[in-house]
Amino acid sequence: MRLSPRPVRDNGGVEQLQDTLGRAHRSLRLSVTDRCNLRCRYCMPAEGMPWIPSDELLDDEEIVSLVGLLASLGVTQVRITGGEPLVRPGLPRLVERLAALPGIEEISLTTNAVLLEDAVDELVAAGLRRVNVSLDSLDPDRFAAITRRRDLARALAGLAACERHPGLRPIKVNAVAIRGLSEPDVLPLAALARERPYVVRFIEVMPLDAPRTWERDDVLSGKELRAMIERRWPLVECPRERPAAPATRWRFADGAGELQFVSSVTEPFCASCDRLRLTADGQLRTCLFAEWETDLRTPLRAGAGPDVLERAARDAVLAKAPGHGMADPGYRYRGRPMSMIGG
Ligand code: SAM
Ligand code: SF4
Repeated sequence: MRLSPRPVRDNGGVEQLQDTLGRAHRSLRLSVTDRCNLRCRYCMPAEGMPWIPSDELLDDEEIVSLVGLLASLGVTQVRITGGEPLVRPGLPRLVERLAALPGIEEISLTTNAVLLEDAVDELVAAGLRRVNVSLDSLDPDRFAAITRRRDLARALAGLAACERHPGLRPIKVNAVAIRGLSEPDVLPLAALARERPYVVRFIEVMPLDAPRTWERDDVLSGKELRAMIERRWPLVECPRERPAAPATRWRFADGAGELQFVSSVTEPFCASCDRLRLTADGQLRTCLFAEWETDLRTPLRAGAGPDVLERAARDAVLAKAPGHGMADPGYRYRGRPMSMIGG
């Protein structure tokens, strides 16, 4: 029998959402929609993506209730994602309400930036503190081939608009790397981190695409990416931003900027994971790769009290697996795709 570690309490005396390995969960990925205005190849099919029925999506009130509950259990950071979060109507008002919840210290956003130029001022005024922009190519044709939409100019305008807000820095640019596709984009994206106030992060492609075409050989590893970049610009490793941060950090040896590598497949960081996920339809997940979810929407809509929801959240965290298991050569993910979970 495995004994639970001693409860961890924060400064306010809150007993953290802690699992059997002692991982305390302070960070929440909150999906506010599964809809999107792009169709990235590694995420969605070109057509025919099955959407979550509208009546199953949480409304603002329900999101605020569930995030409030998780904040009362020690969650301090909320990253809003999707689908594409900016297609959800009224996002600034939701950000404002989440930022006002007791215990919430930071609200951040992951977006493809296509709708960001007009939205960023209002979001920052509402309490947004960090932005990650997903951008896989700086070439208009390659961007269109990857996302199946000709929207590079709007995405770049959205990214540039973030520079108006010094409080949002460091602005992060996320690029998914795929063998046989991404190689021409690696050096131009690395150069962006030298020329603009952006930290560019390369992300290994994961088996979370809706069409289920991922192959292990598609993974262009963080190590391979670094080798490609180091042939042009030597890099020096730096400490992680915080122990639970998924990315390794590297600065250019000449001091010109910073790159990060999120090597979820080849260098898993499960041992220090402090993340929870709440899907747009109110399912709590303890891992991106979990094949089970804990339904919080049904009890919430049935009028369950905070004690019932707290028990459900604590039980989910206690059942969190030690790792994602992708090192197993026969690994196959059978759960919902990334866009339905919230990346
Ligand atoms: N639509 C927003 C965006 O693209 O930034 C937010 C949602 S998207 C699902 C969140 C992140 O997941 C993006 O950085 C995207 O590139 C990444 N992503 C999507 N599918 C992926 C996959 N199969 N492997 C690795 N990253 C993936
Ligand atoms: Fe949309 Fe983001 Fe998925 Fe691309 S990665 S299709 S932008 S949800």
